[in-house]
Amino acid sequence: MKMRKFKTQLLRVQAISKNYLLLTMKRPIGFHYLAGQYIHLILKDEQGSFERIYSIASPPSSQALEFCIQTSGDGRGVKFFKNFSHEQTVVLSEPRGEFQIQRVDRPLIFMAGGSGLSPIRSFLHDLLSQSLPSLTLKLLYGCQEASEIPWKQELLDLADQSSGKLKVFLTAEVGQSFGVEPGRVDQLLLNHPELIYPKADYYLCGPSGMIQVLIQILSQCGILEDQVFMERFS
Ligand SMILES: Cc1cc2nc3c(=O)[nH]c(=O)nc-3n(C[C@H](O)[C@H](O)[C@H](O)COP(=O)(O)OP(=O)(O)OC[C@H]3O[C@@H](n4cnc5c(N)ncnc54)[C@H](O)[C@@H]3O)c2cc1C
Repeated sequence: MKMRKFKTQLLRVQAISKNYLLLTMKRPIGFHYLAGQYIHLILKDEQGSFERIYSIASPPSSQALEFCIQTSGDGRGVKFFKNFSHEQTVVLSEPRGEFQIQRVDRPLIFMAGGSGLSPIRSFLHDLLSQSLPSLTLKLLYGCQEASEIPWKQELLDLADQSSGKLKVFLTAEVGQSFGVEPGRVDQLLLNHPELIYPKADYYLCGPSGMIQVLIQILSQCGILEDQVFMERFS
């Protein structure tokens, strides 16, 4: 499929926690996107050009484009960013994907694992910046280690400043950290049955295995297919 391409500068690659890197790119002129969308990023290494897909983690109101990359594997994309040393030109596609907020007149429950937090972060900032008085948002997020939750303080601050609109639940399989429950996102959901609202919409993002388990739990709780929206990273 033919894609419109944009050239831009990859400005920074910072470690935000042990297993996650935050990429910052200059937002190209004319690059318009919706919260939840992703891009194809064309990168160049010693073997030549290659392409990887990443969800945009910054909200559409942002001047820069931000991405969160999980670095636990040793694939070509991860190696490229680990070796990043100076600002360089990269090529990205126009924004793609249909992982978008469908309606805001009901509670929105976000569940994410690993770098699946990226499009959810964009949703949260975008929704909370609008004047939507009856907004009800819950985030259930899980990753491997309690000490490596990307944007942990930012998420907690966002919840604190949301006048009760956003509540954040964090979990990790290993280690301990303030405000982080032990376990996985599916356990978090089972531990908090009050988060199953029959009339809510559910937005899931992360590895296929996690999404599969969550869909099963939601279905057993009577949540219908048309209340569940998802983006699979694998
Ligand atoms: C819609 C969408 C959005 C996404 N958004 C994000 C995002 O925001 N952040 C993010 O981090 N990822 C995201 N992904 C996943 C991303 O596109 C990549 O698939 C992921 O980062 C792995 O890329 P890589 O180049 O590092 O690994 P790849 O080179 O693609 O390799 C995949 C895995 O195989 C292993 N592997 C590679 N070569 C070998 C070998 N020879 N032998 C054994 N094992 C090998 C690697 O360790 C790696 O774990 C998204 C995917 C989709 C579909």
